[in-house]
Amino acid sequence: MTQRHITIVGAGQSGLQLGIGLLDAGYQVTTISNRTPEEIRDGKVASSQCIFHNALEHERALGLDFWPDAPTVDGISFTIPHPELPGEKAISWASRLDNHAQSIDQRVKFPRFMEEFIKRGGELVFEDAGVDELERYALSSDLVIVAAGKGEIAQLFTRDAERSTYDTPQRALALTYVTGLKPREEYSAVSFNLIPGVGEYFVFPALTTTGPCEIMVFEGVPGGPMDVWKGLTPDEHLETSKNILETFLPWEAERATDVQLTDPNGILQGRFAPTVRNPIAALPSGRQVLGLADVVVLNDPITGQGSNNASKCAASYLQSIIEHGDRSYDPAFMQATFERYWDYARHVAHWTNALLAPPPPHVLELLGAANQVPEIAHRFANGFNHPPEFQEWFMYPDKAEEYLAALGAKVS
Ligand SMILES: Cc1cc2nc3c(=O)[nH]c(=O)nc-3n(C[C@H](O)[C@H](O)[C@H](O)COP(=O)(O)OP(=O)(O)OC[C@H]3O[C@@H](n4cnc5c(N)ncnc54)[C@H](O)[C@@H]3O)c2cc1C
Repeated sequence: MTQRHITIVGAGQSGLQLGIGLLDAGYQVTTISNRTPEEIRDGKVASSQCIFHNALEHERALGLDFWPDAPTVDGISFTIPHPELPGEKAISWASRLDNHAQSIDQRVKFPRFMEEFIKRGGELVFEDAGVDELERYALSSDLVIVAAGKGEIAQLFTRDAERSTYDTPQRALALTYVTGLKPREEYSAVSFNLIPGVGEYFVFPALTTTGPCEIMVFEGVPGGPMDVWKGLTPDEHLETSKNILETFLPWEAERATDVQLTDPNGILQGRFAPTVRNPIAALPSGRQVLGLADVVVLNDPITGQGSNNASKCAASYLQSIIEHGDRSYDPAFMQATFERYWDYARHVAHWTNALLAPPPPHVLELLGAANQVPEIAHRFANGFNHPPEFQEWFMYPDKAEEYLAALGAKVS
């Protein structure tokens, strides 16, 4: 088989992971990045990028576990404040993950992955790819894959209205990277708080450019009291983060009395509509390119799945490409490659989109029962590692009822 040349546009979680996997499998790979490693390292944070075990395993399989001593996330805690008693919790439980999760700031990770990509023989080109550039890559490569995340170029892929649940942003998002947060007792965790009608707040340990930190993630219902992030200076952003905790989550505010920003770029605010796109885009010449990860399945970060999906999508595409051998990368191949990934990702989207809506009675029932039944808390926490599992008990009232009955928990 002659060596095949694949061009990947976008040097992020999925693009770099797939590129490195393809190099190891003997392909010639060019990756296009619109940012240099220095620009990424010195730029703004873009994510909270908490990655669970199965997705970390894909990185480990490629020898990309460069941060064995980084802080680990060992569990998930879940809290709903009491609606009538300020400062009290209505639901509060925690459970350990069977295997730890980890968050490495993309400002640390992507430059290191780029270095590795070059070391293993990849060609890294710095340019902001548009349609003309895609045409050029399509002429000189056997396959062009667009892994540009939320970059504008993703708009070339049309929205799949049938597979997309929402057409507007469901949350106003904010990130605040801090040091000085009091650790959870017993074990580290994603401390997840759901404030009905207001939004969600979660916080967990990570590794950033300056060392260990904690990442605060705010998910405000649009127009509500947590949708307050636009136009703030870094200091105002930090103050706003603390004020929200004092108002709605005093137990979290208590942990955050002494927090400082990791750096002035350790903040982010924005919003986007969760969107599923058609995986093939046609260029003016008629040549076609294939979308990868966030370009094709973009979820709200409420369930922290985007980087996990990116890793799993890269692993799935890698397998599809290798199995395809030296046959042509025609539209049938592109569609089938996406469908194989979608068969997994649709469950992630279904669960994530459900959590953006007000919780239905059976979900409140399950989350409440987890207060008394550790097995439910354990199942919920470990579902983050493999969300299709939620289909078996969490997503449907009848399955929830069956599950609770089998556990002997009270179903009201
Ligand atoms: C607030 C927030 C919190 C999040 N928290 C989590 C979390 O806890 N866990 C989790 O799993 N996920 C999380 N995510 C999602 C996660 O960060 C993304 O889903 C993931 O990075 C997507 O990977 P990707 O490879 O598709 O794109 P990216 O990792 O975004 O990479 C795309 C790359 O392409 C480059 N690019 C864009 N356009 C072009 C172009 N025209 N030419 C060349 N290069 C281009 C970009 O500069 C970028 O480096 C979060 C997202 C947000 C917004």
